[in-house]
Amino acid sequence: MRALMLTGDRASVLTDVPVPRPTDGEALVRITMSAVCGSDLPHYRKPAADLGNRLVTVPGHEAVGVVSAAPASAGSSEAGRRVIVYQHAGCGYCDHCVSGAPMFCADRRTLGNHRGGADAEYTVAPVTGLLPVPDDVSDGLAALIACNFGTAYSGFRKTGAGVGDRIAVFGLGPVGCCVVALASASGAEVIAVDPIAGRRELAKTLGAAITIDPADRDPVAEILELTEGRGPEIVIECSANQRAQEQVMQVVRARGTVLLLGANNRMEIDPGLHVIRKELRILGSWVFTLPEYPAILRAARRLPALHSLLGEPFRADEAPAAIAAADAGFVGKALIDWS
Ligand SMILES: [Zn+2]
Ligand SMILES: [Zn+2]
Repeated sequence: MRALMLTGDRASVLTDVPVPRPTDGEALVRITMSAVCGSDLPHYRKPAADLGNRLVTVPGHEAVGVVSAAPASAGSSEAGRRVIVYQHAGCGYCDHCVSGAPMFCADRRTLGNHRGGADAEYTVAPVTGLLPVPDDVSDGLAALIACNFGTAYSGFRKTGAGVGDRIAVFGLGPVGCCVVALASASGAEVIAVDPIAGRRELAKTLGAAITIDPADRDPVAEILELTEGRGPEIVIECSANQRAQEQVMQVVRARGTVLLLGANNRMEIDPGLHVIRKELRILGSWVFTLPEYPAILRAARRLPALHSLLGEPFRADEAPAAIAAADAGFVGKALIDWS
């Protein structure tokens, strides 16, 4: 089968690898759409010597496809069903696994990391991690839901935001844009920050009231001016940019909430200045849990503006160009069509 492979130093190739074989309790899924995640990019940028098992593992954890072969015991995950492949699998028996949160399992195995991933014509996955996709949800939207929208939803719900809140969103990649859509739909007033003009435009389409170019104006001063000098009630960091991470701690109001969604780097916090004397609530959120999936589907179907994030997919033979585009600041979601 055709598969994307990382080769190090911002390079990748489309190559031929064997079709993976399902074992007990696993299904073979023919991928129709995968997508590049911001969390793929730190690995894409590494030299080959630092890639470890990722040098020989198909990347990608945002997978939509059709069940090609399922074990007889699979029940509702029978062959022919359109599914999202949930990115994490666990032991199936620990507290985290039985509560639908296998990402916290001590035996976590993640697509594109500990097991072959989504950027290929086939992948295998435990049937317990196959999430049915309704007919009216396109492959592109399903790929967005599989990681970025699900992540944005789960994080956003943890903030408790609602009508009357001002929410600043730093970083308008696909996760940040999904947060903007959710925050606007909840009735909050959204201030969206990103240096890329196309991303700011997209955020406006998704409901942002105000956008700020941090390369042009100091976002902290600008946001304080917009919020009576006190700062917004909620700030959501989606950029994983160290400068932005410092700015969100400065700009959020006393007794406000910071939600961190941008990962894979280090940030510095002054506990006294930024957290204790502000009595901040700092939240982290990783990926959605399985029990959240039905609500995530309902939310995505109620937000037609999300389609503005989905451009023309890259063809499978253009998969290396898709990840290169995401690395270069692609506006919207970089999708790869394997159908
Ligand atoms: Zn992802
Ligand atoms: Zn477990």
